[in-house]
Amino acid sequence: MKVTVVTAFPDFLDSFARTSIVGRAVEKGLIDVEVVNLRDFAQGNYRQIDDYSFGGKGGMTLMPEVLERALHFVRGEGTKVLFPTPVGAVLTQDLVEALAREEHLAIFCGHYEGLDERFVEKYVDLEYSIGDYVLTGGEIPAMTLIDALSRLVPGVVGKELSVADDSFYNGMLDTPHFTRPAVWQGMEVPAELTSGDDAQIEKWRRRAAASRTLSRRPDLLGRANVMDYLEDEAYL
Ligand code: SAM
Repeated sequence: MKVTVVTAFPDFLDSFARTSIVGRAVEKGLIDVEVVNLRDFAQGNYRQIDDYSFGGKGGMTLMPEVLERALHFVRGEGTKVLFPTPVGAVLTQDLVEALAREEHLAIFCGHYEGLDERFVEKYVDLEYSIGDYVLTGGEIPAMTLIDALSRLVPGVVGKELSVADDSFYNGMLDTPHFTRPAVWQGMEVPAELTSGDDAQIEKWRRRAAASRTLSRRPDLLGRANVMDYLEDEAYL
């Protein structure tokens, strides 16, 4: 899959697309991350990309004609145009999974007050938020989405990390994890995990995920069948 990020601050994305798991995925050609500088589409001596918001208190808004020129440059057949914004739909694992099925996503990063709303109305397919707080720009929300998407591309996450066991994947939170030593400061790793018995381990994992989800995020339970995980009403 290909993701294009249109931003006035391309440096932000450049090191991200070269680092760690996402960087390796890009290098191997498993995911294509293109970073496009919005300023390349500005015109005039001042290369202006933003202007004062009408009726605002001095805030700036990214100009629709500059955004549109960038869009014509990046958009191909089947491109889905995304705008990260606090007023968008909250990004969930379900939404990430749906977006992972797209061929090409073009993410337009807002800055200052955001994008001119007429551009949003005319061209944006999805507005998404990464949470109920306000950041200075759309670059971190763009990186958040690309990172989450890349984990779903086959071959990106190694065998040692099982994506299917991650939080939210099956509607549950992940289990606690432990490594050596088996006893640390008097605290023991659950006996099932060191038993070597696959069935016991699996049973422990399912129960741990279910009871953690019940106590910490009961709102998730509508999506998962918690009884399948608990197999024991005593936990409810
Ligand atoms: N005036 C906007 C509001 O109150 O909704 C906030 C604009 S914010 C300072 C600038 C840009 O950062 C936004 O256009 C958006 O692209 C990005 N941004 C900030 N917080 C975000 C969030 N929680 N989710 C997604 N994008 C966010």
